[in-house]
Amino acid sequence: TKEAYARIDALDGEVGAFLALNKEAAEQEAAEKDQVPFEERGPLFGLPIGVKDNIVTEGIETTCASKILEGFNPIYSATVVEKLREAGMVTVGKVNMDEFAMGSANENSAIKKVHNPWDFDRAPGGSSGGSAAAVAAGEVPFTLGSDTGGSIRQPAAFCGVVGMKPTYGRVSRYGLVAFASSLDQIGPITRNVRDNALLLEAIAGVDEHDSTSANVEVPSYVDQLTGDIKGLKVAVPQEYLAEGVSEGVKAQVLAAIEKLKELGATVDTVSLPHSKYALAAYYIISSSEASSNLSRFDGIRYGFRAEADNLEDLYLQTRAQGFGDEVKRRIMLGTYSLSAGTYDAYYKKAQQVRTLIKQDFDKVFEEYDVIVGPTTPTTAFKLGENLDDPMTVYANDILTVPINLAGVPAISIPCGFDNNMPVGLQIIGKYFEEGTIYRVADAFE
Ligand code: GLN
Repeated sequence: TKEAYARIDALDGEVGAFLALNKEAAEQEAAEKDQVPFEERGPLFGLPIGVKDNIVTEGIETTCASKILEGFNPIYSATVVEKLREAGMVTVGKVNMDEFAMGSANENSAIKKVHNPWDFDRAPGGSSGGSAAAVAAGEVPFTLGSDTGGSIRQPAAFCGVVGMKPTYGRVSRYGLVAFASSLDQIGPITRNVRDNALLLEAIAGVDEHDSTSANVEVPSYVDQLTGDIKGLKVAVPQEYLAEGVSEGVKAQVLAAIEKLKELGATVDTVSLPHSKYALAAYYIISSSEASSNLSRFDGIRYGFRAEADNLEDLYLQTRAQGFGDEVKRRIMLGTYSLSAGTYDAYYKKAQQVRTLIKQDFDKVFEEYDVIVGPTTPTTAFKLGENLDDPMTVYANDILTVPINLAGVPAISIPCGFDNNMPVGLQIIGKYFEEGTIYRVADAFE
């Protein structure tokens, strides 16, 4: 914990990963932990962790990097935070993100920018940009992120770290500020696969406070890191290496696929034919759910409240002043898609497409153990590059959103460099088979 704070003091002025720090309480907690006998300590005991700022933490301000939650101090902690406590981990602070987890570059944070530790002029990815940058900069060895359409995997790829989006329902969402409830999952970001497996083991499992959490036994993921992938059946979707994926990224991913063959896996090309509709369906569904979820921020219940003469004006002013542009854009898009005259053409259609996308995955998984491809079409782009062009930023999510729409688990691990920037390899697995994903990921290490 001391080392984490020393490193944060030295570097975070430039990186910008941390929002609130929990220094006094964390150092006291760490000192108490020093007294616990070694035999009573689990593998994560006493280790420092940063928690994404859309996960509520009792006693530590939680803002979702939005002005509208300024000064909001939650009265309870998320289930995952309780589980970290049970594992003996020390929460050293809250990490930066795109406002309400909407974005792919962390440039939508209302508080400050995050810089990619590999090149400060580049974006760390988003929305869990703070989570990935904090680990890449060596400020903390562990962070939690959330992933609705790629927000764990894309920043992990951009920052050269390991990020896992578990199966929908694997980890409790209780205390995660909802963006799109049918897509959101919390997951671990770490420097290596073993740490990642340990942390997922600690936070996974059914929770009576989240009716969408699944009652499926949590196996030991670490036990599955055997290094042996002989006979494993790997599918590579042709759509994931098509036009739009940069040559540099393609070269590293193809080299990783060769390595899988050398290790004894069999590799075939397959098709996920509805992938091309995934972005459109994702932005309709996620914005629709967001427009409903974010209605609770009204100036009465949480955080910021604007000056106003009457109640209606208070709602209006609070939301007008409290939300940033991207959040407003999504609320408008979502409200429109759910409206009586447009529902059938947009929301309902998007849900039908979602089913087709899920069926594409089901079909491939009848025959194959994992699906492998790039996490992102390019390496990290320059900060400020796409500020006026949300469509270009949305397009960057093309390879990650289908996974959330289907609900399957996927990891991003580093697989080489293109022009000195890290490239991410995405490994997608069957429902609740995170263990197989970890086994494949570990075979590279
Ligand atoms: N970049 C995507 C978006 O802006 C994903 C966000 C996320 O996973 N939270 O919606």
